Amino acid sequence: MDGFESKVPPNFIRSIIAEDIKYGKNRGKVLTRFPPEPNGYLHIGHAKSICLNFGLVAEFGGFCNFRFDDTNPGKEEVEYVDSIMNDVRWLGFDWGDRLFHASDYFEQLFEWAVDLIKADKAYVDSLSAEEIKEFRGTLTEPGKPSPYRDRPVEESLDLFQRMRNGEFADGTHVLRAKIDMASPNINLRDPVMYRIRKLSHWRTGDKWCIYPMYDYAHGQSDALEGITHSICTMEYEDHRPLYDWFLDNIKVPGHPQQIEFARLNLSYTVMSKRKLLQLVQEGHVAGWDDPRMPTLAGLRRRGYTPEAVRNFCERIGVGKRESLVDLALLEYSVREDLNLKARRVMGVLRPIRVVIDNYPEDRVEYLDAVNNPEDPSAGTRKVPFSRELFLEREDFMENPPKQFYRLAPGREVRLRYAYFIKCVDVVKDSGGQVVELHCTYDPSTRGGDAPDGRKVKATLHWVSAPHAVESEVRLYDKLFLRPDPADERDGSSFRDGINPDSLEVIGSAKLEPSIAEAPAGSRYQFERLGYFCVDPDSTPGKPVFNRTVTLKDTWAKVAKAEGIHKARKA
Ligand code: ATP
Ligand code: MG
Repeated sequence: MDGFESKVPPNFIRSIIAEDIKYGKNRGKVLTRFPPEPNGYLHIGHAKSICLNFGLVAEFGGFCNFRFDDTNPGKEEVEYVDSIMNDVRWLGFDWGDRLFHASDYFEQLFEWAVDLIKADKAYVDSLSAEEIKEFRGTLTEPGKPSPYRDRPVEESLDLFQRMRNGEFADGTHVLRAKIDMASPNINLRDPVMYRIRKLSHWRTGDKWCIYPMYDYAHGQSDALEGITHSICTMEYEDHRPLYDWFLDNIKVPGHPQQIEFARLNLSYTVMSKRKLLQLVQEGHVAGWDDPRMPTLAGLRRRGYTPEAVRNFCERIGVGKRESLVDLALLEYSVREDLNLKARRVMGVLRPIRVVIDNYPEDRVEYLDAVNNPEDPSAGTRKVPFSRELFLEREDFMENPPKQFYRLAPGREVRLRYAYFIKCVDVVKDSGGQVVELHCTYDPSTRGGDAPDGRKVKATLHWVSAPHAVESEVRLYDKLFLRPDPADERDGSSFRDGINPDSLEVIGSAKLEPSIAEAPAGSRYQFERLGYFCVDPDSTPGKPVFNRTVTLKDTWAKVAKAEGIHKARKA
C-alpha cells in the first residue's frame, strides 16, 4: 500500500527545549506536566497535550508529572479520575510515582494567600459575584475598584480565616489579588483567588470550604513541583502575566517557563468537555465511551489503537496558529495502523441466501484463507464452504447497470478463497423482493483461479450459512454534519448540527466462525467492509462489532487536494 510521507512536522517547543539544554538553563533539566481537571473524560485534544509533554521528556531525558488540577469540587468526580489515569496508560505513557494533585498544595496555597494579604497584595471582597462582574469593566473600559478594596489588612486577615472556618455562606466573600483595576489585561483586574464552596472534595473531604481558583493554584503548583517548561494551550497566553505576578509576589521555589501552543480542533467534532458532557447528559450518545465520541474511551471502544492516536498527534505537529484538522487524517492514521495489524476475516452485513445447486448437500470443505497479506507471519486459517452461503445483498443486481461488475443473472464471479460461481436463478417473494439466489460452481476453480485462464470481474466475500455466527454490527458516521459544529457565532447551538444517522445497527450480520469467541477489544478487517472491533456488549454466542473505519481512504483525496505528495513504497 502507498503511504503518505510521515516526516516529522515542525515543533517549536522542541527547539526551545533543545536551546535551553544547550545553554544549561534549569541545569539542563526538563520537567513537564500534564494537568487535567477531573471534570470529564479525556479526548483526542488531550492526547495531543499528553503526547507532547511525555514525548518531550522521552526525547530529552526528563520527567513528566501527572497532576490533577482538582480545585473545583462541584464538577469533579472519581469516575473521571479513574478514566483519566486509565486513558493515559492506554495511550502508552507512564508517570511512575509522579502523581500529584493541586489539592496536595491547599495548605501551602492558603499560607501564601495570607502572606499576600499581609503584604497588602490581596483583600477580602464582599461584593456579590454579579457586582464583581459589573465592576470589572470591559475590553474597552477600565474596571472600578470595589468599595472593600482598601479595607484594612487586619480585617481581611480576620475575614479570610473565618471564611476558612466556615462562618460564611457561599458567595458572601471572596479573596482577590490587589493588582490593577485599570489594566488593559482583564485577568489582572484584581482576580478572585478564593471562593467559598461548602462542598466535599474527593480527596480532602470536608477539610476545606474555601477553594483556590485555577489561576491562583496553577502556576504555584508548577513551581512547587519544579516544572521547567509549563506547556499549555493558547487561551492561557493572556493569563501568563497573572501567573507571573503570583510567582513574582510569592516566595515560590522556582519560576517555570510557560509556553503556549494551539489546541487541536478536529472537523465534525466538538472538543469542549462542557459540550461533551451535554451530549452524554442529554442522551445524544450512550455515554462518555460511546464510539462516536472523540474521547479516548470512545475511540478505544471504536477500535482505535494507541499507536494510531500517537501517530496522528505526531503528524499534526505543534504550532501557535489555530486550525481545524481534518477528521480524515485521524481516520487515515487508524487505517494505516490497522492495515498492518488487523487479521482479515469475512462477514456479511446485509445477507442474501445463495444455494449452490451443483454442490453436494452434505459436503463441507475447509478452504485456506490468508490472515493478513501485509504480514505473512499472521499465517492462514480454514474457512468452511458449503452448499448454502450468505452473500452481501448489494453484491447482486437483477438488472445491473453498465458499471456493475458483481453478481447478476447469468454472470460469473469469484468467491474469495473459494470458487467461481454463476447465478442461474433468482427466487422472489410475493412482493417481488429477491430472497434467494441459485448458482452453480465450477469445481475446477478451487482456490479462486480457473485453469483455462478465464477471468471474472469481481471477487466477493461470503459466509457459509450453516456455520455463520450471528452478530450485531454497529456502523458509525460523523456525529456532526457541520465541519465546525462548535462554532455557534450565528446563534445556533452545536446540537443543531447533530447527525441523526450517526449510528446504524445491523441486528443480524453473518460472520465466519473463526471470530465467534473473539474477546472484547479485538480488531479485524472484514474484507471489503472496513475495520471492526469487538464491543464489550458482546455475549457468548452473539458478538457485537463496532465499525472502526471504512476502507475508503478519503484522506487520500484531501492530501491530493492539498498537494501532499505520496512517499514511494520502499
Ligand atoms: P475545558 O474543555 O473544560 O476547557 P480543558 O480542555 O482545559 O477543559 P483540562 O483538563 O484543563 O481540560 O486540560 C488538561 C490539559 O490538556 C491542559 O494542559 C490543556 O491545555 C490540554 N488540552 C485540552 N484540550 C486540548 C486540545 N483540544 N488540544 C490540545 N491540548 C488540549
Ligand atoms: Mg482547563
